[in-house]
Amino acid sequence: MSKPVFVVTEQRDGLFRKVSFEALSEGRRIADSLGSPVVAIIVGSGVEALAETAGHYGADRALVADSDIFVNYTAEGYTKTILKAIQQVDPEIVLIPASSMGKDLAPRLAARLDCGLAADCIALAVDNGRVLAKRTMYANKILADVQFNSTLGIASLRPNIFPAAQPDTSRKATVEPLKVDISQTDLKAVVKELISGAGEKIDISEANVIVAGGRGMKGPDQFKILEKLAAVLKGAVGASRSAVDSGWRQHADQVGQTGKTVAPDIYIACGISGAIQHLAGMSSSKCIVAINKDPDAPIFQRADYGIVGDLFEVVPRLTEELKKVVE
Ligand code: FAD
Repeated sequence: MSKPVFVVTEQRDGLFRKVSFEALSEGRRIADSLGSPVVAIIVGSGVEALAETAGHYGADRALVADSDIFVNYTAEGYTKTILKAIQQVDPEIVLIPASSMGKDLAPRLAARLDCGLAADCIALAVDNGRVLAKRTMYANKILADVQFNSTLGIASLRPNIFPAAQPDTSRKATVEPLKVDISQTDLKAVVKELISGAGEKIDISEANVIVAGGRGMKGPDQFKILEKLAAVLKGAVGASRSAVDSGWRQHADQVGQTGKTVAPDIYIACGISGAIQHLAGMSSSKCIVAINKDPDAPIFQRADYGIVGDLFEVVPRLTEELKKVVE
């Protein structure tokens, strides 16, 4: 049997984030190709129950580091704990979500383990018993195939790209509590409190429907019409970088190369031209609807449905019509 596939999971408030299901499912797929087991690590406070769920998504072993000190993510605490576990398990590959947490953690682990890191991967494959990674470069303009020169490799997985498998409740992981030997004095910086953005209900990276606005919204107050449409569709409101840079929306809402990668079932782009950096974050959406008054806007080349018109007329009418269908 080959060496294990090690999956770093991410949870918040004792619940797995969607990226964890994606990483566990991809870990299972790669492990099946390698003929190796999947070892998952769960770090947090009050997270023991998650080990069972990790098993449903493909983990054979679930290492649980449960301590009050992990109530919020800390770079030193998580790095030290996960590093120790990786050294004990001696895996073939470490998979980690390329979320904000994973982007902080993965290079720290790679530096300490002196191994290669393929960051923000969009596909993995197994060739001759070795894991190969595919990642984009230069704002998705080219694709690079990455091979690890080090014995161990770390691959961070772009959120919303790797499909999460259906959970198999008959699968069980062996649960192994990890001894946590971190104290407050080990931590150079601590997160005191996490404050959700005002009015932010669903994180765009986890939403099934996103209604996004760009410079064409003309100001922050006008986003209310997008919030109404999103509420009818039980979705979230996203934004282009222009809208974020103008201070109309918070950065957490930004879709694109320097924002979040999203892949909802429906993405409705309102007053967004479709610059390559925006498309980099949303072109994997299952159905793209564009509303723009310029028939030559590049977004229409990617859209499944396009409405040429003034969004301030189209969006309220669309909301009213959808209300009749949905409610
Ligand atoms: P614009 O390009 O100005 O488009 C506004 C659109 O609104 C136009 O098509 C117009 O026809 C339409 N419109 C205006 N009024 C109406 C109306 N009443 N009804 C209907 N339509 C209307 N951008 C991102 O979005 N995300 C990123 O992560 C990102 N990262 C970047 C990283 C780098 C390194 C760089 C250089 C750029 C990045 N950008 C990013 C910026 C990107 O290049 C574009 O400038 C930006 O996406 C444009 O935003 P927009 O489509 O809202 O605005």
